[in-house]
Amino acid sequence: MVKFDAKLLKKDFPIFQNKKNLVYLDNAATTQKPRSVIQSMVDFYENYNSNVHRSIHELGETSTCFFENSREIIAKFLNAENEEIIFTSGTTEGVNFIADAWARQNIEKNDYIVTTQVEHHANFLPWLRICKNSGAKLKFLELDKDTFFIKLPEANFWSDKIKLVSISASSNVLGEIWKENQLENIISAAHDIGALVLLDASQLAPYKKIDVKKLNIDFLVLSGHKMLGPTGIGILYINKSLHNKVEPYKVGGSMVQAASFNDVIWKEAPYKFEAGTPAISQAIGLGAAVKYLNENVDFKEFEKHTAYLSSMLIDGLLKIKDMKIWGNIEQIKKSGHLVSFSLPDIHAHDISGFLGGLNISVRSGHHCAQPLANMLNLQSSVRASFYIYNTVQDVEIFLDKLNETVNFFRK
Ligand code: PLP
Repeated sequence: MVKFDAKLLKKDFPIFQNKKNLVYLDNAATTQKPRSVIQSMVDFYENYNSNVHRSIHELGETSTCFFENSREIIAKFLNAENEEIIFTSGTTEGVNFIADAWARQNIEKNDYIVTTQVEHHANFLPWLRICKNSGAKLKFLELDKDTFFIKLPEANFWSDKIKLVSISASSNVLGEIWKENQLENIISAAHDIGALVLLDASQLAPYKKIDVKKLNIDFLVLSGHKMLGPTGIGILYINKSLHNKVEPYKVGGSMVQAASFNDVIWKEAPYKFEAGTPAISQAIGLGAAVKYLNENVDFKEFEKHTAYLSSMLIDGLLKIKDMKIWGNIEQIKKSGHLVSFSLPDIHAHDISGFLGGLNISVRSGHHCAQPLANMLNLQSSVRASFYIYNTVQDVEIFLDKLNETVNFFRK
């Protein structure tokens, strides 16, 4: 069994050696990179830099081999087939891809797209635009403002006018939003009325082992940089039964089997979906990141660890007068990895700015989920989020410095 030891893992991350006192709790925005990921990209540029899928010289063969090996590592990680894994620049591009290459052709006036009230703009604005352009309508799965779970929709919520359900597996503001098997139930209710389902897994994939076959999902998107990989690379999973129903998002080099002056035949997936020179070093870096997770992280133990840190954090936060925590406290303490909070008398930016001066990185703002923030009447919150290298000591320092911050502003 793979052991899980955050203190030991921290040693694999050069940034923590270079910035000795850094307490990094902004992992929901992006994670730090282990040496093996950085080295995999240095290796590419120093030893076999070459384009992929075209040149048959030795360097070209080597880079193609490493690039495709990455796809295979990621496919295994998600229990997908290799051809179902499409490299994108990240979650944002993955959602826009499906909006442009599937929804634009298939969503008509008076159809519905279902999403939740808690989405990041990346999984909301592409659907808002599709609806504005086509005359289709958005329908929302609502948030219970007391429990912070998504409410179970009434039976009459579902109709065959719903063509797509596009939802987050986990919120970047509230953490877990699905009670027990509710996510699975929504996926199957959507399939029962013939709708497709897209899952924004950018906040789940770094923390929980996802099995796309078990989830029975049609599309899944994630960002590599939130799970130890470099920026500029992400994954779009398209179930292979849909490969012929999704158009290429971009067209150009590398994805053509035959082209004439008046026609074109695409290659098979995944190449049909990857026009142009891809982000080669980043794809290799993401493969190295997933390999690192496979070799060093037992996800069950990791979940216990982040839940323990979250519990500690919440208990400490609640000792501060007028503290408001946004999210289901019980659930976060059981299996969470992020905690958003606010104080009525100190602006979240003041808190995160002050903490920044004390070597503590947390995020503040509406977290790119402005409709949710407006609905909750929450102008701005502070978010602390954990990853595999965060320790009990990080939480202790954070709480200590947060108290110092609060005292400074309240004195
Ligand atoms: N969806 C969620 C839930 C997120 O948290 C984020 C980023 O924070 C995104 C989508 C967008 O990811 P990216 O900026 O990597 O495309």
